[in-house]
Amino acid sequence: NRKFIVGGNWKMNGNKASINGIIQFLHEGELDPSTEVVVAPPAVYLDYVRSNLDKKIGVAAQNCYKVEKGAFTGDISPAMIKNVECDWVILGHSERRHVFGESDQLIGEKVKHALESGLKVIACVGEKLDEREAGLTEEVVFRQTKAIADNVSDWDKVVIAYEPVWAIGTGKTATPDQAQEVHARLRQWLSENVSPAVASSVRIQYGGSVNAKNCRELAEKEDVDGFLVGGASLKPEFVTIVNARK
Ligand code: 13P
Repeated sequence: NRKFIVGGNWKMNGNKASINGIIQFLHEGELDPSTEVVVAPPAVYLDYVRSNLDKKIGVAAQNCYKVEKGAFTGDISPAMIKNVECDWVILGHSERRHVFGESDQLIGEKVKHALESGLKVIACVGEKLDEREAGLTEEVVFRQTKAIADNVSDWDKVVIAYEPVWAIGTGKTATPDQAQEVHARLRQWLSENVSPAVASSVRIQYGGSVNAKNCRELAEKEDVDGFLVGGASLKPEFVTIVNARK
């Protein structure tokens, strides 16, 4: 009963010409109507994409700040994202955490403000390779999830993305069993620390080198409720990934 949800995180890629190409393959592809689809263009293209893309497909910002407006040069707010009619924001992506140094605390504050502003949130968690090798996967993922969960007012508006950092952009996908294991433990953590109802209804996406070849096997796993796709979301194979359960 959890609706499959596939996100395309374009990261810092594209221009109007290439975005027109993506919009075209999204419009021409036969997208499984039982899968929810959300794409996340760079902030400068949010308005353009929202204006030109079929309304069945959601549009997300890749990040935003924790207040509505003010002297925060270079940043954007949930109010602005809503003003250009986009409904979603990705928060806590590993690149925000590890390239831009965002802390659990800041990500929690962003989640809180984004939800209060009426946005839906894809909140990302995931361990680094050295953390996995040191046996710290659960500790890291639970700590990151707690910082998010403590700030969630409405779980219907939240999707969790489990993205092991060692699998992002590396071509080294988690095996279906590795993904399933963490997703199941995360759901158990939610059951014990939030509520059994939230644990069974919240969708947990997998992200990290998902492509047209590996998506079906991953999608078969019980606790994998969708994907957050980076590189492959810029290419027509994204349609195949959206249809992984078709
Ligand atoms: P890749 O699919 O390019 O590994 O990126 C995953 C990701 O970070 C999506 O948010």
